[in-house]
Amino acid sequence: MIGGKVVRTCPVVACRALSCRHTRRRILLPMDASPRPAKFNDHPALSRRDAISLGAAAAMAPFAFRNTRASEESTDMHQVPKRPVTPFTVVLGIAQDGGVPQAGSFGDPRWDDRAQRKSVVSLGLVDPASGKRWIIDATPDFPRQLLELHRISGGPARPAVDGVFLTHAHIGHYPGLMYLGKESIGASRVPTYAMPRMRAFLEQNGPWSQLVSLGNIELKPLVAGEAVEPIPGVRVTPILVPHRAEFSETVAYRIELPGGKRVLWLPDIDSWRAWDDTGTRLEDVLATVDVAYLDGCFFADGELPGRDMSKVPHPLMTDTIARLAALPETERAKVRFIHLNHTNPALDPSSDAARVIRDAGMRVAEEGEIVAAQHV
Ligand SMILES: [Zn+2]
Ligand SMILES: [Zn+2]
Repeated sequence: MIGGKVVRTCPVVACRALSCRHTRRRILLPMDASPRPAKFNDHPALSRRDAISLGAAAAMAPFAFRNTRASEESTDMHQVPKRPVTPFTVVLGIAQDGGVPQAGSFGDPRWDDRAQRKSVVSLGLVDPASGKRWIIDATPDFPRQLLELHRISGGPARPAVDGVFLTHAHIGHYPGLMYLGKESIGASRVPTYAMPRMRAFLEQNGPWSQLVSLGNIELKPLVAGEAVEPIPGVRVTPILVPHRAEFSETVAYRIELPGGKRVLWLPDIDSWRAWDDTGTRLEDVLATVDVAYLDGCFFADGELPGRDMSKVPHPLMTDTIARLAALPETERAKVRFIHLNHTNPALDPSSDAARVIRDAGMRVAEEGEIVAAQHV
């Protein structure tokens, strides 16, 4: 176009590549025009209902990382809203333990498109006043996630996190602790909150036990249902969930931010029915939070050809959608799926699966999105 320049802009998400999978179109701007200010309700990947629910949820805007990958690899223009002034959560990964794509999937086209690669499921917790940052689970993608968390926190340069909360001992949720050891950061007494069996697992099994004996991490006890306050005014409460317990119990976390915003982080659970059997109903928990990040490992049955999916129990997205279908739209709009397996078709926003989720009034979480009491 004569007199104009072509830019790609994705105002609301942390996309990372030459081809933005969210926008999927180029936007022409006059040569001297500045990109539009970030508005999460003008994103083409969001349905009108998404936009309404997000808008109503004031201050729960997806947040674009200061995108090093984009700057390394392209001249994409990404809108970077100001950091919230009050404590906030930020999604650092939405993939199942093995990541997206997975090792050995040599023909997966996502290897060549950073926008479609996903980090293993993790949530950051940031206090802008102090620059301190906490992380829920230490995944195989810990180095990249720590960098992103550091940049978002705006805190002073220091290598480690200020603390870790662990959900359970399945293999994608704690191996990032290795980077706190002497082979890497060599951190000193990083508070690492874990339930009793999880603590014993780390204390009694090498090489993790060395992180404890050398003082790289300092294990801190958690009690189900009892909140801890890692940041003044921020309460983090572990909630037991039924999940294959070979090595440890499993918890979700309920995070209460100043100003009353409440976030549920629940990456792994066997089934909602199993939770019912323990006396906890998803619907009741949903009613106590503003945003619910829920296990969405698989979209539907049959997703793993040749494998018995009952051996890897997780709620199917279709089951979650069906279970919550009768709830008011405001309740369904709280649901944001995480822990997606690399086979999950909903990873592609243009897929039929993603459309089904949007039509149900829910959505897949975006890496980089934040929830804050106040967003400026
Ligand atoms: Zn997992
Ligand atoms: Zn698990």
